[in-house]
Amino acid sequence: MNLNWSPAQWLSVLLKYGIPESSLSGRPTACPVCGGKDRFTYDNKRGRGDWVCRHCNDGSPMAGDGLQLICRFTGLSFAALAREIEGGKPVCLVPRALRVAQPKPAMSGEAKAKRIERVWSRASPLAPGDAAMRYLAARVPGLVAPRPTALRLAAMDYRHEGVVYGRYPTIVAQFTLPDGRMATVHRTALDPAKPAKALIVTADGEVLPAKRNDVTAHPLAGGAVRLMPPRDGVLGVAEGLENAYAAYMLFGVPTWPCLNRVLLSRFVVPEGLGIHTLHIFADFDEVDPKTGKSPGMADALALAKRIRGEGLTVHVHRPMVRSTDFCDQWLTASRLQDIAGKQAVCA
Ligand SMILES: [Zn+2]
Repeated sequence: MNLNWSPAQWLSVLLKYGIPESSLSGRPTACPVCGGKDRFTYDNKRGRGDWVCRHCNDGSPMAGDGLQLICRFTGLSFAALAREIEGGKPVCLVPRALRVAQPKPAMSGEAKAKRIERVWSRASPLAPGDAAMRYLAARVPGLVAPRPTALRLAAMDYRHEGVVYGRYPTIVAQFTLPDGRMATVHRTALDPAKPAKALIVTADGEVLPAKRNDVTAHPLAGGAVRLMPPRDGVLGVAEGLENAYAAYMLFGVPTWPCLNRVLLSRFVVPEGLGIHTLHIFADFDEVDPKTGKSPGMADALALAKRIRGEGLTVHVHRPMVRSTDFCDQWLTASRLQDIAGKQAVCA
């Protein structure tokens, strides 16, 4: 195929196939294929519609010519594109909005299991001073706990409706069913600069959640993140990761997060670990005017009732102050300890 096109011809072909004009300015810009902010440059360096992206090769740099860009952008095969161009056939233009809206073929359960296995195996075990440890230490000051084998850290793209909103250090938590199968991985995107959750905002100003599950390979009911081993048959459960650690600091009970109150209410005590006593660390939510109940407390009590019915000893713990959780309570307790410590030094 003769591709000795002028720069203007290249531009017109690329535009015809829907590559946004803003990507073809020659300056660093968002990549039409993988997003970002300034990772892509169209330089037409060799006169073949050349471009370079720092991220397109699964997070690594990639360069190519204009035809490759069109293939990657449109999903056309190279052969089909060459036929269209050589044959001078009318170009099949699929508006970008339609392409984005086309539903992806549903992933099979097996493909989902493979995907979460891949996410998990690519993440690294936590190490002192890494972004995950710094974040947890900021949320639960003074945290001392067994090194969690169910948490890992990875640099991950934050993808939302096909758009990548940057790459973040991400806590990856393994969500395990009572029978030991991994059902999903829960991801917490962290701010790259400070120990806090990432703030991710769309172009429309929508704030996206920093905490999300990946694909669900198996229904989640019954499972939890096995943050630390139970001790002497005693285990605690809480909603969030930070709350589980706060409960551990306050009560010394090894605690697993179930991720939310609904999953907490459906927790199943795994067999074979010799657990005879369950502590439930509820979030003390505001009363829902519709039900007259505090949702976090109501779900904790429902769990308590079911587990007691199975013959286990159950203790339900509620934070002292309404509309707080155990993370808040630990913060207060640790501040008071600080003050007490300082007074002791003064005395
Ligand atoms: Zn790219």
